[in-house]
Amino acid sequence: MKLILGCIADDFTGATDIASVLRREGMQVLQINGVPDNEKNYPLDVDVVVVALKSRTQPVQEAVADSVAACDWLMKQGVLQVFFKYCSTFDSTPEGNIGPVTDALMAKLNTKRTIASPAYPVNGRTVYGANLFVHGIPLAESPMKDHPLTPMRDSNLVRLLTSQTACQVKHINWQSVQEGRNKIQNLIDAEKEEKGVVWVVDALTDQDLIETTYGAADMTLLTGGAALAQGLPALYRDRQWTEQNATKQTVSIPAGNALVLAGSCSTATRGQVEAFLAHYPGTSVDPLALAKDEGEQQRLLNFIKEHIGKTPILVYASDSPENVAKIQNELGQQVAGELVEQCLSSLALTATNELGVTQLVVAGGETSGAVVSALHADTLLIGDEIEPGVPWTVMQGERKIGIALKSGNFGSKDFFLTALNAAN
Ligand code: ADP
Repeated sequence: MKLILGCIADDFTGATDIASVLRREGMQVLQINGVPDNEKNYPLDVDVVVVALKSRTQPVQEAVADSVAACDWLMKQGVLQVFFKYCSTFDSTPEGNIGPVTDALMAKLNTKRTIASPAYPVNGRTVYGANLFVHGIPLAESPMKDHPLTPMRDSNLVRLLTSQTACQVKHINWQSVQEGRNKIQNLIDAEKEEKGVVWVVDALTDQDLIETTYGAADMTLLTGGAALAQGLPALYRDRQWTEQNATKQTVSIPAGNALVLAGSCSTATRGQVEAFLAHYPGTSVDPLALAKDEGEQQRLLNFIKEHIGKTPILVYASDSPENVAKIQNELGQQVAGELVEQCLSSLALTATNELGVTQLVVAGGETSGAVVSALHADTLLIGDEIEPGVPWTVMQGERKIGIALKSGNFGSKDFFLTALNAAN
């Protein structure tokens, strides 16, 4: 089998999200966490490699360096197309790195055209009139405007990307998208701008995104949300780059103890925490006590030890925007974030090393990144989807551990319970 697509994702949950979409559509997918090591042999008998970076909140220079290094490695493996995956929460200020990373990848791939499409209809993210909406509400008026790390203060993608990229940012409106793939392709082909063009393409439905990928079929670089990738497997089959009837490998989740860790303060996660606590025990992390080093870490560990193996359990830092603001005022945004990430990832390490945990569910993009780093889970085989965009994965290596990494905003109210049921 030949590697066809290389994805570069700006965070870990984003990576599993796109990996999951591609697997659902019949592709074999391996996720590598961090820039791949040139000296290392990976099991590359797959259609797609998704490289998960932690670049969403990195300063521009570091994000660009990691993304270009990942792209370089993917090109060496012979991929035919590259997909830069980000989600609907990213740094929308002029200091944001989506634009500079896109520019650098275009240069690396020697191309002057790309798409920017963070729409994800099944999760309520749509783009209309170049504005990004969350369940019908403009992004900058949605709860994401107060995201702890990447507050979204502008909904207009043309405007916010223009402030970040050296390219022209152009828009293909929804009416044109309704005319289909040929219309999209014609608009792209007719554009003569020399310095490069990032196309923001409206999308209200999955079909709009599929038309977009076909309209942009000749581009070597695509950028956007995981939903934009859903049309690619069919496109590759049409082009006979993959077999018509590829069979999916089965991936079973190792039996053992179950632990849920939530480091996201997003509305969806807070609802999931509440729903879980209605059935099973959990305890909340106190970031101020962590900062004062008052034995908080030990208290949390003791809680896990007391319950583990008897029942699924939850440790959560999730809190209301008012309380998060208070904590951030006291500790600083970055320090508070890092303290919580460090706390949860250290619990994950002890739980998997010493307490028989083989089924780990993690909520929060940055939080997932921290957990995966602590576990040195650098290669994950993608298994079946739990809910849209979130698959179970199995950490490769000597010890196999099932990990489900959920972006904060994703999932139904019962996600944690659904995940644990799906593993057994
Ligand atoms: P999401 O996917 O919802 O964006 P992330 O894990 O990416 O979630 O980001 C949430 C950030 O907020 C993390 O850095 C986390 O450590 C931090 N955080 C979580 N709980 C608190 C809290 N109670 N106070 C301050 N920061 C917190």
